[in-house]
Amino acid sequence: MEAPEFKDFAKEMVDYIANYLENIRDRRVLPSVEPGYLRPLIPSEAPQRPESWEDVMADIERVIMPGVTHWHSPKFHAYFPTANSYPAIVADMLCGAIACIGFSWIASPACTELEVVMLDWLGKMIGLPEEFLACSGGKGGGVIQGTASEATLVALLGAKAKKLQQVKAEHPDWDDSVIIPKLVGYCSKQAHSSVERAGLLGGVKLRSIEADNDNRLKGEVLEAAIKKDLADGLIPFYAVVTLGTTSTCAFDYLDECGPVGNKYDVWIHVDAAYAGSAFICPEYRHFMKGMETADSFNFNPHKWMLVNFDCSAMWLKDPSWVINAFNVDPLYLKHDQQGSAPDYRHWQIPLGRRFRALKLWFVLRLYGIENLQAHIRRHCGFATQFGELCASDSRFEIYGDINMGLVCFRLKGSNDLNEALLKKINGRGNIHLVPSKIKETYFLRMAVCSRFTVSEDMEFSWNEVKASANEVFAEKN
Ligand code: PLP
Repeated sequence: MEAPEFKDFAKEMVDYIANYLENIRDRRVLPSVEPGYLRPLIPSEAPQRPESWEDVMADIERVIMPGVTHWHSPKFHAYFPTANSYPAIVADMLCGAIACIGFSWIASPACTELEVVMLDWLGKMIGLPEEFLACSGGKGGGVIQGTASEATLVALLGAKAKKLQQVKAEHPDWDDSVIIPKLVGYCSKQAHSSVERAGLLGGVKLRSIEADNDNRLKGEVLEAAIKKDLADGLIPFYAVVTLGTTSTCAFDYLDECGPVGNKYDVWIHVDAAYAGSAFICPEYRHFMKGMETADSFNFNPHKWMLVNFDCSAMWLKDPSWVINAFNVDPLYLKHDQQGSAPDYRHWQIPLGRRFRALKLWFVLRLYGIENLQAHIRRHCGFATQFGELCASDSRFEIYGDINMGLVCFRLKGSNDLNEALLKKINGRGNIHLVPSKIKETYFLRMAVCSRFTVSEDMEFSWNEVKASANEVFAEKN
């Protein structure tokens, strides 16, 4: 394909994208296809001769769309949101065109340098302590990871490297095989499953400890677990504090857990994958109290800040632990300016990395902080609206508090009843929700996800929930 044809194809695609997104509300949010639906729709082998782009375009509606779950529909309320905006989509086009692999500064200086500055912009927007920012002139700085899971793993590996060095200094006769089995990390039972996975991938014990009745991890509980492990001869080295848990968007007490981590020399990683975007609004920053005690912090602009996946912002107070943990330095990756700017290959698991800072830059400039704040506040308002609708029907109860853009709710009654309700809702296919369960209580999660959502959409979703409940009760009687 040459440039003239590319221009026609791309223009057609831009029109298609705009139409798709502007009319997304009219599509069935959850596809009704069965596993294996796609294979019969396309040939069993790749074409020998080139096809026309018009044929490819035609197949999007025929082959792809029937099997798409429309995450950006106002009727999508599952998981947490994933972001989508026109500036980020356009930035991704440019990223695709430049198509550099920015593993070191010299591999594409703009790729590294824009990322450094964007992470400073973003850090300032959420009021992150200076020490995390590259512009402070200290050790700290930020990096864009692909996902929060990667950030959790990278932080764990940095913490592991740090503790190994400390312990070896105290016990020169101990090697890795003696120390690693003693290492133990911590998170609350409400932490995301990626934390447990980081422990498995990092080859260390990860202890899930009990959160309080509001599903928040308290400092005294973390301290008790650390003390017990120390008494048993283990070596506490890492703890994850979650700001905005996946099940209920609960906030661990960072101001309690952080000082405990500092007291016992345990690396504190703060996972604010979803809720971190809300910290651009000053009224939510009280949840960040204690951030100065953290060693690393992460949130996903690709969840709630209108930057398309993947863009997971991570800051480290002292990146050298991570850099040194992964440092391999073959001749073909060396360059003359090494040491005067970050070589991000040392801050992450893969070598290759895309020019992801472009989409952050485009979004921040084309929305401005005030419109991003308005987006967050609108979503929180819709959650409140749904909560009020729910509270107006005596058959329902809200589970816990309404936090950010998430409402956890259930029918008063058994788990079976609520499982039947969810099955009915998703079976009707007009809205899409997922459940969660805490200490034997099963509940439904209504996450406000789409940037297209308006108040009437929340009423529509509530009416769907009500209609589904009516059907469940009618079938029961
Ligand atoms: N941490 C929390 C609190 C989450 O809610 C999620 C996903 O929803 C994750 C981590 C994982 O995010 P990612 O898909 O970016 O790895």
